Amino acid sequence: MATELVTAPIEETVTNPVTDDGGHDRFAHYVRKSDATRATVEGVPVRALCGKVWVPSRDPSKYPVCPECAKIRDRLLNRGNN
Ligand SMILES: [Zn+2]
Repeated sequence: MATELVTAPIEETVTNPVTDDGGHDRFAHYVRKSDATRATVEGVPVRALCGKVWVPSRDPSKYPVCPECAKIRDRLLNRGNN
């Protein structure tokens, strides 16, 4: 019954090179599984729970989960259980 979600990594084009504090833009975001599948097959962008839109391209297991997505996912799951 719960919305099926998967994580997908974000890969952003960095126009300004960053060093020390870089990398915080790369997260694994939660997206709907059907969207992730479609993105893989058709190369279309997906929209994460937090509203981020991008074309996923890499293995999400290497990235930390987006905190915003995690919060929204928790809310969805809690609502489903109640
Ligand atoms: Zn996110």
